[in-house]
Amino acid sequence: MSGAEEIVTLTASQMVKAMQKGDLSSRQIVEAELETAKAVDPKTQSYLATCFNSAFMVADAVDQARALGQQLPDLAGVPIAIKDMIVTKGVETTAASKILKGWVPPYDATAVGKVKENGMPILAKTNLDEFAQGSSTENSAFHPTFNPWDLERVPGGSGGGSAAAVSSFESPLALGTDTGGSIRQPASFTGSVGMKPTYGRVSRFGAISMASSLDQIGPCARTVEDAAMLFDAIAGYDPKDSTSIPGCEPAALKAALEGKRGDLSGIRVGIISEASGEGFSKDVMDGFLRGANLLSSMGAKVEEKSFPHFLHGIQIYYVLMPAEVSSNMSRYDGMRYGLRVMPPDATASSMMAATREEGFGPEVKRRIMLGTYVLSSSQYEKMYAAAQKVRTVLIEDFKKAFQSFDVLICPTSPTTAFKAGEVEDPVTMYKNDIATIPANLAGLPAISLPVGLDDLGLPIGFQIMADRKKDELAFKVASALEEAVSRENDGPIWNKVPRLWKSGE
Ligand code: GLN
Repeated sequence: MSGAEEIVTLTASQMVKAMQKGDLSSRQIVEAELETAKAVDPKTQSYLATCFNSAFMVADAVDQARALGQQLPDLAGVPIAIKDMIVTKGVETTAASKILKGWVPPYDATAVGKVKENGMPILAKTNLDEFAQGSSTENSAFHPTFNPWDLERVPGGSGGGSAAAVSSFESPLALGTDTGGSIRQPASFTGSVGMKPTYGRVSRFGAISMASSLDQIGPCARTVEDAAMLFDAIAGYDPKDSTSIPGCEPAALKAALEGKRGDLSGIRVGIISEASGEGFSKDVMDGFLRGANLLSSMGAKVEEKSFPHFLHGIQIYYVLMPAEVSSNMSRYDGMRYGLRVMPPDATASSMMAATREEGFGPEVKRRIMLGTYVLSSSQYEKMYAAAQKVRTVLIEDFKKAFQSFDVLICPTSPTTAFKAGEVEDPVTMYKNDIATIPANLAGLPAISLPVGLDDLGLPIGFQIMADRKKDELAFKVASALEEAVSRENDGPIWNKVPRLWKSGE
């Protein structure tokens, strides 16, 4: 499959250039991605539903418009996959839950609308942990997804499908959602780039709600530049989302290109001292510190910063997130969407109970129960109100830190990808997100990029957090680091992934 191989291993930005020069058509790209998905998806199981027919229609329309010399958006013709947590008009959207099986939304999420306005063919909906609750994509009600670097391992979660699709060349780009790390931790496990925008920079309209005060849609890609292009395409004020930030023009691509020049002089970088030690593997810490050294070699001023409440983020999260989950999940009542189970002599309440019993998986049920408990009158002050107060303390800590630092860095996740089935107890699973959750609680932009490989040849993720609305700065620093890492490793990390279309890989 040399032709297809050559096409699908291009980055999105290389695809853009090749199409603009007339060397490649969007139809050829979609064809190559289809061929790749046929060979690779049975192994990674990244996709839940595919929509190649409509993708070809979009590709042809773009190719025709280009042939007529029309001015097109940069990303026109570059395909994308969409996490099945984001609604797509006319294409089944399930959040990987039985309760939504068969639901075909009558509208598009704002981010999906923007993808379409940019002329990007949508290839597929990607797998996830049910309702984005998990860190391994093993909680999908339909099937797990596997890590292209080692098919016995998980791709992270909840957005394992988007990350695996991008890193296995099934799609150059994907959209994810990130409530506590679901874009960044899978990026770290799969050697790809994942970015959670500032809360409010990308509209949440049409993102299925998990925990509304934390959820954000963001880009998944193989390179920082590609993620930046996608960020620019989907960010912007949206009157349909009351938490959307007005007056913030996206300029991530410009920042990423600036970063590529490798000059970080004047940038103050804080290493979060607490994100180390227990739970963080030696390989991950070594890789992370190599990355930090690369930043200082490019002129950044890198210093340790003690962040006393950073690790409490996970405790705050596991009170507030389930509270919001329990409230958001109440809309799945068998009346309005998807599944309805009618027991004999059904009443409204027995129908609802039977539907929810059958429709929700164990992790979702666990969180509904936890959330209902922390919101109950006996626990509310002790648990929910207390967690809100500590959330404010954490936010204040960040505000103070950003007076002396431009970005804060730490490993994205404490370990590299673990084996499927290896982590059985939920609390151990929750700890995967110990370093990603604080950015959600404070609404900050944060990006994960690969910084090297561990002893087993698995990618290690490096996280860069910036102050609210400074998404572009995170892209700039990430892009500088990516160049330096690529120089150190004789080429980009993403390109070292096994080619799964070859037999035996
Ligand atoms: N893994 C985290 C959780 O299980 C984060 C999920 C997410 O970001 N959607 O809650």
